[in-house]
Amino acid sequence: MLVENDAPLAPLTTLRLGGPARRLVTAHTDDEVIAAVREADAAGEPLLVLGGGSNLVIGDAGFSGTALRIATEGFALDGTALEVAAGETWSEVVRRTVLDHHLAGIEFLAGIPGSVGATPVQNVGAYGQEVAQAITEVVAYDRTADEVVVLPNAECAFSYRHSRFKAEPDRYVVLRVRFRLEDADGLSTPVRYAETARHLGVEQGDRVAVDTAWKAVLLLRAGKGMVLDPADHDTWSAGSFFTNPVLTAAQYESFRTRPGAEDAPAYPAPEGCTKTSAAWLIDRAGFGKGYGSGPATLSTKHTLALTNRGSATAEDLLALAREIRDGVREAFGVELVNEPVMVGVTL
Ligand SMILES: Cc1cc2nc3c(=O)[nH]c(=O)nc-3n(C[C@H](O)[C@H](O)[C@H](O)COP(=O)(O)OP(=O)(O)OC[C@H]3O[C@@H](n4cnc5c(N)ncnc54)[C@H](O)[C@@H]3O)c2cc1C
Repeated sequence: MLVENDAPLAPLTTLRLGGPARRLVTAHTDDEVIAAVREADAAGEPLLVLGGGSNLVIGDAGFSGTALRIATEGFALDGTALEVAAGETWSEVVRRTVLDHHLAGIEFLAGIPGSVGATPVQNVGAYGQEVAQAITEVVAYDRTADEVVVLPNAECAFSYRHSRFKAEPDRYVVLRVRFRLEDADGLSTPVRYAETARHLGVEQGDRVAVDTAWKAVLLLRAGKGMVLDPADHDTWSAGSFFTNPVLTAAQYESFRTRPGAEDAPAYPAPEGCTKTSAAWLIDRAGFGKGYGSGPATLSTKHTLALTNRGSATAEDLLALAREIRDGVREAFGVELVNEPVMVGVTL
């Protein structure tokens, strides 16, 4: 276990923003993770669990507690049952299941940065697939009960960019994630997303070769600055900064009366709700690609990604985020909610 004091956190995040941690612990085994969490909890010390730092906005004052970097390793595939350690890199796991083992189930989640342990936290999703569809169990350290628990999928409360782990942020530290993949003779799961189907020249619901699906997603993502590239400031982001708003029937009715809202994207969501597109709202509220003139601007490839052009502070980024949130509220009466986790700051 490596322990550093007053350690910079910005280089451990994809936004490359924020101040230092009072203490940074890097844990390489589950036992080290648990020991570090127990020590912090016993001392009443605030704890920040850190994976790949790709969904974090850390305030300029940093974190006055222990940041625990999970660097555990392990990839065990038995038929279509896969168990992976929390510290493994998600995009590499997807690459291995597709290119080495020709299995389907997570191929459309190619190129999403960060660690495996964080994937259940916000139920990562993209291109018509969510990790909840493939997860069978999550093995976690429960800080409240002080024991390792195995939570079956049904007990993880997965929903759109949400889960039990996100709802109770100070309770669970994910140690391993178990998946059930699909052996479809080298084919993908059905193509659900219209843009992917168009790109592949197939109908929605068709299957394609699993490596073709994987490559297509990487290509589409790269075109939007959604695959990490240290040389490209459009990828110095936390991915989508806002979640797609899910509106109740009454909220949707009121939204539709706003000028210009008639042609807003609308998708059915659970409990009679309607999901619309945050990217569409941002664009139509006057914040196009590349918006902003300071050190933090919208990505030039995607209106949903707020980016650090190299010298931004967390406050620069948050000022831009607030301007956009307020502009969308004024234009459409819809409240945008941030997707990344805020550390020591609020929107
Ligand atoms: C360019 C780019 C593209 C992206 N595209 C997508 C996308 O398509 N879809 C999508 O859903 N997300 C996307 N994201 C967001 C991000 O990649 C995911 O949310 C990812 O799962 C975060 O993983 P991480 O390891 O970097 O988590 P971190 O940023 O390190 O942490 C995020 C949160 O999870 C918690 N956490 C991390 N590890 C654990 C653990 N082991 N146990 C308990 N809690 C933990 C942290 O405490 C924090 O609250 C994108 C981000 C970027 C930068």
